[in-house]
Amino acid sequence: MRVLVLNCGSSSVKFAVIDTKTQESISSGLVENIGVDGHVKAKGPEGKIDFNFDCPTHAEAVAEVQKFLGEQKLIDSIEAIGHRVVHGGKYIKSEKVTQEVIDYIRSITLFAPLHEPAHATGMECAMKFFPKLPQVAVFDTAFHQTMPRKAFLYGIPYKFYEQDAIRRYGFHGTSHRFVTGEACKILGKKPEETCLITAHLGNGSSCSAILNGKCADTTMGFTPLDGLIMGTRSGSIDPAILFFISKKYGYDIDRLDKMVNKESGLLGLSGLSNDMRTLSQAASEGNVGAQIAIETFCYKLAREIGGIAMALPRIDALVFTGGIGENSFLVRKTVMENLALLGYQIDDERNMKSGKESGHIISKDGTPTAMVVATNEELLIALDTEAMA
Ligand code: ADP
Repeated sequence: MRVLVLNCGSSSVKFAVIDTKTQESISSGLVENIGVDGHVKAKGPEGKIDFNFDCPTHAEAVAEVQKFLGEQKLIDSIEAIGHRVVHGGKYIKSEKVTQEVIDYIRSITLFAPLHEPAHATGMECAMKFFPKLPQVAVFDTAFHQTMPRKAFLYGIPYKFYEQDAIRRYGFHGTSHRFVTGEACKILGKKPEETCLITAHLGNGSSCSAILNGKCADTTMGFTPLDGLIMGTRSGSIDPAILFFISKKYGYDIDRLDKMVNKESGLLGLSGLSNDMRTLSQAASEGNVGAQIAIETFCYKLAREIGGIAMALPRIDALVFTGGIGENSFLVRKTVMENLALLGYQIDDERNMKSGKESGHIISKDGTPTAMVVATNEELLIALDTEAMA
């Protein structure tokens, strides 16, 4: 089946046409700056486009995607649409899009204020421009709904869980789920008999403990700010730091929000960049800020891995994925050095080649298994859509 995968953000619409049989992307692109000065960049079998256009709302963006797919002669071959949704609230699996699903997504706007209204609007636009196609919503939180209560509760008054559903939800579920499936295939094990730690390391990062194929714990929480140090996000911090900074510097809620979401993480620590490639280069040239950022990122990741490992009886493999996990031999090496207590030992040659010539494995033979598995969230969205459409 050919599936149009849509990822509607607050000011952008990303799309890909995935063939579930060949598992390949036939066309992909991005409409950005919705509401300001629309810009579209896309490619397909018949060529590329890259231009500015008038795009006041998501409707014009989805119309532009439809027009491009028509020009690429793909439109008639598309049989369903799969939507990436950041927050699924109560949903424990992917859902066919109905007005009830759209209304529910809007109703949890407070959980992800930038994303949920955009997802709902994107679904309505897609229904308007592609009225005959079935649509499926795939949620970043759904895979984590198997976490037990002791893992998803925070140590705050219980009434906030009961009244406001404040709890750990976890994100990147599509990626954790995809690499869990791939890792099991590579290891030749059934998911229901496999225990993993999956580390999705990109601009946003999270790691999960997978117990017999299901999520038992994860580092992201009520929002994607929790857990690991990320590109510009702080990850978990002592909440009292916010009270201190607010009192001393007069930061209000919005200023604090900006600080922890946009000015922290690798960028804030290094004072240089949020990009691991830039930081790795700078660190190798002696830049102290870059060295501090990488060292702290890797140590905190190892510390979190040690923590969520308590959800498992054993670890069959530690799986690295995401832009950093798949590409940074420096991060993988440093993280594994920090995990020496668990017995991990990196094989430098395998690691330098990202496991490409060693069946994905980057650990030394005879030591606990660590591996690199490329994620493909769009493919999983397309496969879920095929299964449910
Ligand atoms: P997103 O979370 O936005 O999907 P990605 O998964 O693409 O992000 O990851 C982006 C991160 O991956 C950036 O920090 C980037 O520097 C890093 N990255 C990509 N390639 C490399 C590489 N060869 N070496 C080190 N880091 C890399």
